[in-house]
Amino acid sequence: MHILSGGRLQLKKQIYLPEAAPDEIITLPVSCFLFRHPQGNVLFDTGCHPSVAGNPEKRWGDMAQSVVPVMGVDDNIVSELRRVNLTPEDIDIVVNSHLHSDHCGCNEFFSKAKIYVHADELAIARDPALEGRGYFKADWDHPMPIIEVTGEIDIFADGRIVLLPLPGHTPGLTGLFASLPNSGAYLLTSDAVPLRENLDWEILPTNTWNPDLLTKSFTEIKRIGKSGAAVVCGHDLAQSSTFKTAEEFYD
Ligand SMILES: [Zn+2]
Repeated sequence: MHILSGGRLQLKKQIYLPEAAPDEIITLPVSCFLFRHPQGNVLFDTGCHPSVAGNPEKRWGDMAQSVVPVMGVDDNIVSELRRVNLTPEDIDIVVNSHLHSDHCGCNEFFSKAKIYVHADELAIARDPALEGRGYFKADWDHPMPIIEVTGEIDIFADGRIVLLPLPGHTPGLTGLFASLPNSGAYLLTSDAVPLRENLDWEILPTNTWNPDLLTKSFTEIKRIGKSGAAVVCGHDLAQSSTFKTAEEFYD
């Protein structure tokens, strides 16, 4: 497992921690996770589109006012893959944890991949009322085959990479449980747990789609964490500073 950057954003801390001061701004890392499995290369999330580094309004419209990219022009998954001597064509499977723009913004580059995404997430992304409100067709509506996930899926049927629905932030949010031979187990939670505080104190972000489902997902994540898996948050700067660099990896 290689952890690669998919960009960097700033937004109001209140979005994740409602009791934070109204003017407090936090910086969010955007992460993508590459698995070099013997049966194929799997990428969990594709981060932000490169164009938002220079002209976020063009792709994001008004959303660029509240979710502000603070990333260099090379801070995206396409550039990051070069650090591990891969190109987007080398990726066999892309898993999108959900279809918000900072998690699937680079899907268009993965032209050889099958795209795994939850059926309920596709349904909400297709809702015309939500176009431009976190969801953008330009991110996810491409000719590559989409495999619609509806429950738990063990991608290679060997327990190494298992997709787990963790709804609440969005209807189809899907986490990834990785069992690595030497480094142990990791649960990639994406925006089910944006910051560690959200899980530890069971604080529901203000951008939660369904509070009851997210609370249930917290319980499930804690259960898996207690069983020994490292819980990897979606946008926690403190935690991301402890990640190994792209060229290093978790084996
Ligand atoms: Zn999201």
